[in-house]
Amino acid sequence: MSEAAKPVPSAVLERIREIVGPEGWISDAGAMHPYLVDRRELYHGRAPMVVRPASTDEVSRVVGVCAESATAIVPQGGNTGLCGGAVPHDDGSEIVLSLSRMERVREVDAVNDTITVEAGCILADVQAAAAEADRLFPLSLGAEGSCRIGGNLSTNAGGTAVLRYGTARDLVLGLEVVLADGRVWDGLRALRKDNTGYDLKQLFLGAEGTLGIITAAVLKLFPRPREVQVAFAGLASAADAVALFSRARAAAGDAVTGFELLPRIGLEFVLAHIPGSRDPLAAPHPWYVLVELSGPGAGDGLGALLEEFLAAAADDGLLQDAAIAASEAQARALWRLREDLAEAQVPEGASIKHDISVPLPRIPEFIARAAKATTRAIPGSRPIAFGHIGDGNVHFNLSQPPGADRGAFLAEWSRINRMVHDLAAELGGSISAEHGLGQLKREEILRYKSAVEMELMRTLKRALDPKGIMNPGKVV
Ligand SMILES: Cc1cc2nc3c(=O)[nH]c(=O)nc-3n(C[C@H](O)[C@H](O)[C@H](O)COP(=O)(O)OP(=O)(O)OC[C@H]3O[C@@H](n4cnc5c(N)ncnc54)[C@H](O)[C@@H]3O)c2cc1C
Repeated sequence: MSEAAKPVPSAVLERIREIVGPEGWISDAGAMHPYLVDRRELYHGRAPMVVRPASTDEVSRVVGVCAESATAIVPQGGNTGLCGGAVPHDDGSEIVLSLSRMERVREVDAVNDTITVEAGCILADVQAAAAEADRLFPLSLGAEGSCRIGGNLSTNAGGTAVLRYGTARDLVLGLEVVLADGRVWDGLRALRKDNTGYDLKQLFLGAEGTLGIITAAVLKLFPRPREVQVAFAGLASAADAVALFSRARAAAGDAVTGFELLPRIGLEFVLAHIPGSRDPLAAPHPWYVLVELSGPGAGDGLGALLEEFLAAAADDGLLQDAAIAASEAQARALWRLREDLAEAQVPEGASIKHDISVPLPRIPEFIARAAKATTRAIPGSRPIAFGHIGDGNVHFNLSQPPGADRGAFLAEWSRINRMVHDLAAELGGSISAEHGLGQLKREEILRYKSAVEMELMRTLKRALDPKGIMNPGKVV
């Protein structure tokens, strides 16, 4: 929590209102509500005001006023984060600063393959602006219609294209940041080579708003894939999925742009609860992978490559059956089987969630041991292990036993988290592969990071935010 757990003085609120004008702030309880509750409704905060500046200059002046008065600020993008990072605490001592009015694409440079955007741009709009210039901005995730690029960069978001293009961090060339004292750091450089000292932008990427406010970014663009091939394969085990991934990389290299795992029970949830979905394979299989190959040249022969690769894997007993999409619509339908999985879990009752990563070869052991431990702890509970297996990232979600009491099941959240996180750590993994720490894992991380690492993080926090006003009580 902030040192100043007291109401924000009305004079401070008045100065902020003057800076942003009537369009730039909200204090009506009903209108503020969506900014004060997180997506999963695990966190409900309070704030005297949601500020919505329209420019970097306004952000800078608002932060300057907050710095003078030691008023804490919670930066917010699309508020789709899954760890309570973007909502304030419930003591009313913080203001929310939403970037949602800063939605401008400042520049698309198709020769330099870069796009310069304001932090409030919705991710899908960044993708669309790139596509208009016949380029690809590859960051892609389920929330792309509502998350904002500043939030994506501040959480170092992952998503479905990490395998080929890296996480959000890897897609950034330059940043503009409002520092905790209100000064603007203009690091909007569109350079792929720049060895002139510390790479300061890295400090703010993945910092979840605890070190400064990202107001704009220069992002990398890529050639737009002209050929995309998607297959859905049924397998006997998660170990076969890992082996298949290695073979896919050996056969197709960087053309492997997606490799997602889902278990039979996950597919059953989707088939039961998502209208219009259908099983692409004739018989059930214990596990499935979705494989996507894509490349920039039409006629790259990726279809033939995919077919040959799958046939060879089937001959060697690594897969049991596979369907290849014959059209873009079919490819979309296959992707939806994977993307709709989180939503399909909702009607099945409560779910205890995890977002872990381990080195790729350890995924089968992780899944088997986590499933055994959690179902022994809660008999009848249903492990759903799915995710971006090519990145070593597994969302290990435990669905409640059918008909069980929701509250009693969720009361086991911390005990189950502990088991799963301890196992990930034992296998050399991380307890937060892509969602961040926020409030949700702020205490939990102390168990897994060394004292030296935590102290380094606190040293950075003190250096960049000496008054502790940037998103206090999150991350560190
Ligand atoms: C259906 C669904 C699917 C998802 N799939 C994925 C996935 O595949 N991969 C993945 O990584 N995540 C996923 N997420 C989580 C979420 O979408 C990402 O974390 C996303 O990057 C958050 O963006 P946002 O704009 O909503 O950020 P917010 O939730 O608003 O904020 C997230 C954090 O960043 C800080 N912040 C926001 N904007 C700024 C800024 N301009 N400057 C400084 N700090 C800022 C906030 O204070 C907060 O700590 C998913 C979420 C949903 C609901």
